[in-house]
Amino acid sequence: MRNIQDYSIVTFPSDILRKRMRKVGKVDEKIRSILSSMLYTMYKNSGIGLAAPQVGIDFNIAVVDAGDGIYKMINPVILDKKGTDITSEGCLSLPSILVTVKRAEKIKVKYIDELGREVTKSLSGITAKAVQHEIDHLTGKLIIDYLPWFKRISIGSCIKSNSKIL
Ligand SMILES: [Zn+2]
Repeated sequence: MRNIQDYSIVTFPSDILRKRMRKVGKVDEKIRSILSSMLYTMYKNSGIGLAAPQVGIDFNIAVVDAGDGIYKMINPVILDKKGTDITSEGCLSLPSILVTVKRAEKIKVKYIDELGREVTKSLSGITAKAVQHEIDHLTGKLIIDYLPWFKRISIGSCIKSNSKIL
């Protein structure tokens, strides 16, 4: 029986959210247990995707469940993108912020699954958006980076002034 942990969500502007994650070399029980705990934490917070830096872990791994199955991805890479789609996205690490993000409509993604096998999948719809969002996290990119610069400045100063009060 795996030891499932209930992680707490790391929120902006924590440093780890801006880092490039470490590639996973060996898929072992430790990685599998982190993935299961991430999935648990994602469901508990009503998310459809979660990347390791969002729970303070610097591994190149993410989980997604946007309604068409569970994806536990290790070292994911996008091989191909098709079409564009604009949707309003939220992020567990940026509570109460919604950003309009332009992403590929369809993607082909390659990753290692929790048994250490290389998997290639063609994805579309919300799952494709969620996977792109999580892969952004693994390179330190956040949805606010898609905002025009003047809006980014106002979000930055608003969060800064809030943290002074708290
Ligand atoms: Zn996010």
